[in-house]
Amino acid sequence: MKYNVPFIKPSFPSAEKISRDYELILSSNWFTNFGPFEKKFANKVGEYVGNDYTGVTFSNATAALIATILATLGKGDGTKYILLPSFTFAAGAHAIIWCGYKPLFIDIERIGLHMDIKVAKAALEDKNFERKIVGILFCNSFGVGATNIDEWEELSKSMDLPLIIDSAAGFGSQYTEEKMVGSAGAVEVFSFHATKPFAIGEGGASVTRNKAIADKLYSVQNFGFDKNKNATGLGFNAKMQELNAAIGLRQFESFKDTLINRRKTFRQYLSILDKKKYTLQHNAELASLCFAAVIVNDTTKRDKVLSALKEVGVEVKTYYSPTLHEQKYFSSLKCYSPLYNTQQISNSILSLPIHDNMREQDIDLITTTLNNN
Ligand SMILES: *Cc1c(COP(=O)(O)O)cnc(C)c1O
Repeated sequence: MKYNVPFIKPSFPSAEKISRDYELILSSNWFTNFGPFEKKFANKVGEYVGNDYTGVTFSNATAALIATILATLGKGDGTKYILLPSFTFAAGAHAIIWCGYKPLFIDIERIGLHMDIKVAKAALEDKNFERKIVGILFCNSFGVGATNIDEWEELSKSMDLPLIIDSAAGFGSQYTEEKMVGSAGAVEVFSFHATKPFAIGEGGASVTRNKAIADKLYSVQNFGFDKNKNATGLGFNAKMQELNAAIGLRQFESFKDTLINRRKTFRQYLSILDKKKYTLQHNAELASLCFAAVIVNDTTKRDKVLSALKEVGVEVKTYYSPTLHEQKYFSSLKCYSPLYNTQQISNSILSLPIHDNMREQDIDLITTTLNNN
């Protein structure tokens, strides 16, 4: 079905601009393996997050997650757990399993839709899991920064467990006016997939303040090599090629405006939607907004609203439904306590489109349809 208002409408740099970059790549005869475009883009990503941060580029965020777990925890023997929400994208759970650990699903809270720190603490204090939990894979749901990220950092410090943060959809987001998403935990991971607000097609990055971890991240993604091309640890190939980095550098040119426009659309949703019927995800006004997550307060109406929007030509989604523990491959994994909120939110959520330059008439159509249902 073709929609008048598609869910995702990325704006990519013009063919003209990219062809100039491509000419440079051709004439330098340097296509991948940390060429000038990759180096510049990696620096920009790190700088964007903050002065002391190092950006490490990747071919995609899933590879970045795998490398990040390997760089912080090493390869597991299949017996230890890493905490993560079931209310997230499959990549995190896959990464945990690829690295030799077991995902342990934790319920979410209902305001920010993030992993619930109270439940995580209960799991960490539970005798049944004593010395069996080795890390935390927090997820900034839909790229929206958790307002209690400081508490997670304290917990990780006090338990001596690395805090890895999957902020895949959140490049450009802020936890607060002062704190950028990307600056928390041991490492934060971003995706530059075509569906994310900072889109280059396929690409990702891990950002860290820890130089030793950054070096390891580069080694893991390059066959485990050290500077002498000597494999010193487990690795694979997850390098970002020059052309993708060139697209990324071009995206930086317009990213400030992209954020302004996307946040403006979100504020319109926030002000026009009937608050008795709809609740928008908390703190999303400071996010880069791959889309707007909205809870239909009367859960029984979610599917009706979904069809109403589709009928008027608006493509909407229901992230994350199904949740991870409902998907076949993950269904035998452990949930720590029943995932009551996860289930409830997943049954009442709608993902509304946000484009770089959303047309007023489309915002109108969406909000009117929602308020009339
Ligand atoms: C998009 C996304 C990923 C995967 O990113 P890729 O670059 O496509 O590998 C991982 N986690 C979350 C939460 C995402 O939204």
